[in-house]
Amino acid sequence: MDLFWDATKWQPACDFHHNVVKQQLEHLFDRGAIAEADLWLNSARAIAISRRERSATGADGWPTDR
Ligand SMILES: [Zn+2]
Repeated sequence: MDLFWDATKWQPACDFHHNVVKQQLEHLFDRGAIAEADLWLNSARAIAISRRERSATGADGWPTDR
């Protein structure tokens, strides 16, 4: 919650990154699996998740396999 209200940590995101990538990053962060710096959408961790999830996303942006 503290991080959420810190405007220096805000980053604009499209629906895909906000709903898919950020959700996974925040879940990992809550479990202590990644560092705070990994929460940025341009972190190596975020890019890896984006690539993995994008492959399951159709041209319309919706997932194709779930
Ligand atoms: Zn995006």
